[in-house]
Amino acid sequence: MVSNANFEIIINEKTCKRCGLCIAFCPKKVYTADDDGKPIPTNLDACIKCKLCELRCPDYAIVVGGDE
Ligand code: SF4
Ligand code: SF4
Repeated sequence: MVSNANFEIIINEKTCKRCGLCIAFCPKKVYTADDDGKPIPTNLDACIKCKLCELRCPDYAIVVGGDE
């Protein structure tokens, strides 16, 4: 999980299969892949909360704006 004061993106590490779709579809390049291909929302401040990543994830592993 990566968060700032009032917004977060939660990625379920158990269900994420490292397919990279969320990284590819994010229009703001919020994610970078770690060495294992796991998406890390390193550029969270750029997120426009469009939820494309959440909607495209085939494993429902992403929740955008978890605490809002
Ligand atoms: S909600 Fe949209 S802008 Fe934010 S990380 Fe997901 S795809 Fe990118
Ligand atoms: S789209 Fe879902 S399963 Fe694929 S890398 Fe992103 S979080 Fe993981």
